[in-house]
Amino acid sequence: MFFKSKFSYSNSNSSYSDLLLDIDSGNIEAIYFYPRRRETDVLYKNGKKERIPILYNDQLILEKATENKVELTINNSRKESSTANSFASLGLFLIFLVAIILIFRSTSKLASRAFGFGKNKSKFIIIEDVETRFDDVAGVPEAAAELKELITFLKEPKKYTDLGAKVPKGVLLVGPPGTGKTLLAKAIAGESGVPFVSIAASEFVELFVGIGASRVRDLFSQAKAKSPCIIFIDEIDSIGRQRGSGIGGGNDEREQTLNQLLTELDGFADNSGIIVLAATNRPDILDAALLRPGRFDRKIEVMLPDLDGRKKILSVHSLSKPLSKNVDLGYWASRTVGFSGADLANLMNESAIHCAREESKFINDLHIENALDKITIGLRTTVISSPNMKKIIAYNEVGRAIVSAVKNGIDSVDKITILPRAGTLGGYTKLNPDEDVISSGLISKKLLLSKIEIALAGRAAETIVFGENEITQCSINDISYATNIVREMVTKYGFSIIGPISIVSEGSDVFLGEGLFRKKSPFAENTCSRIDKEIINISKVSLRNSMDILNKNRYLLDKLVDILLNLETIDKKKFKKETFDFLNV
Ligand code: ADP
Ligand code: MG
Repeated sequence: MFFKSKFSYSNSNSSYSDLLLDIDSGNIEAIYFYPRRRETDVLYKNGKKERIPILYNDQLILEKATENKVELTINNSRKESSTANSFASLGLFLIFLVAIILIFRSTSKLASRAFGFGKNKSKFIIIEDVETRFDDVAGVPEAAAELKELITFLKEPKKYTDLGAKVPKGVLLVGPPGTGKTLLAKAIAGESGVPFVSIAASEFVELFVGIGASRVRDLFSQAKAKSPCIIFIDEIDSIGRQRGSGIGGGNDEREQTLNQLLTELDGFADNSGIIVLAATNRPDILDAALLRPGRFDRKIEVMLPDLDGRKKILSVHSLSKPLSKNVDLGYWASRTVGFSGADLANLMNESAIHCAREESKFINDLHIENALDKITIGLRTTVISSPNMKKIIAYNEVGRAIVSAVKNGIDSVDKITILPRAGTLGGYTKLNPDEDVISSGLISKKLLLSKIEIALAGRAAETIVFGENEITQCSINDISYATNIVREMVTKYGFSIIGPISIVSEGSDVFLGEGLFRKKSPFAENTCSRIDKEIINISKVSLRNSMDILNKNRYLLDKLVDILLNLETIDKKKFKKETFDFLNV
């Protein structure tokens, strides 16, 4: 049964605690529960109607209403209009819909001719009234904080224009799938009350040359008409990858589309009220032209949530699900290392399904356990479950952080985490690049050697802690990175005892697969074997140096690993605090 239409509620005279009492004493006929609006409408048995504010994720009301068999209607929408109202207008809406379809059918053929080729098949979605808000996105506080700034701009662009301030046009959201990139983009639109125009970049590119470019044009012209607004381009790597690589001259269509996108990005004025957000989990393959100032010059990382973040996300996704009293979301957060927001949403949803299937009133631990089993079986293997593996990863990451702190100062360490990153097995240590190197563009021998030692530090830590025979493949990516640098040192920069010679031949090998048409080396075999020896030698010495550093800091190594295993992430501040008095340089 739904409430009668145009049901108007007076704002509450009675308090939240009265409400709880009233539920218990059976004075209430029905409760209309709006978790996202943080309020509830209450219909009393004596006919009184009231609107009472509730808490975020108010399990208590859900629980009491369910227990006392009060009629409970949950509405996840943020908008005022009650279900009753929408039911009343449903009839009208249907008539309207039929009319629209009829009109559309008769004109669409005409329209497609009139508007030309690419236009009629545009696959972008425009949402005028976005319901998502920042409190729907949990566990990514840094990204959310950075993005909130954009809201002021979209709401009051004049403020910025008057000051002559420039606002970023393009923001790149980088992170593994399911971490909430789309959700964040929508939240900005929702919070600012502007339309959300979105497309998946893969939709741009089709079989016919020219369609992609025309779709990009179309997207931007529609967005301009709607300004201020957000344009969201998902999977931007599918058109934005580097041009001119790949055998056979690359994909013309993709390049044209990318060029058009660049033109459009440059084409709208700085403060025109449009912000373009793009998402990817492969920032490394993007064309440098996309990242230039005035285009996607801001990069915001959206990471997998840590323990606390996961707890918050679980909470967001149980707003309208009654949990049994003894369910501790913190415990479930600790069981779900490596889960993305989407995985966690899925977990709560599956749990609700298990609960409904058993016809229980409350979701209990067993439901969640079953749901977790079901999900993890199908989940990618990067989720770390074994404590042993976590420990190995932690030693790898802390090792790198310590060597970096010794080589480049404590401030060079930005963040250590054992949460897996997209596409890699292990955790992740974020190091700050050296400002001097970036601004001068000069690469010194010392710099390269320190890079190599840091890269080999994971292997060094494992060797020291677990012994020569127990080392794992955990650090393979870092090792191949190190080897590449060593090779460049020797063969490109002339930084070794081989002397100041350059052995790499410039260009040409990009287009042709290496190995297929490889040029014969201009050097004698003897030189080549000396080069190989030198590469091996530098690598071994670097590993030794790395091990020396870690041996000197063994206490710190173990201590930080303990902390990391507990907290999963150590941020810059914490790292500094823990290392400052203990680091042996
Ligand atoms: P992405 O774009 O990064 O792949 P989405 O934003 O599409 O991820 O997330 C998919 C769904 O997963 C969302 O609709 C939401 O239900 C859930 N989700 C993902 N991240 C979060 C988060 N940080 N907080 C709450 N829910 C999330
Ligand atoms: Mg997405």
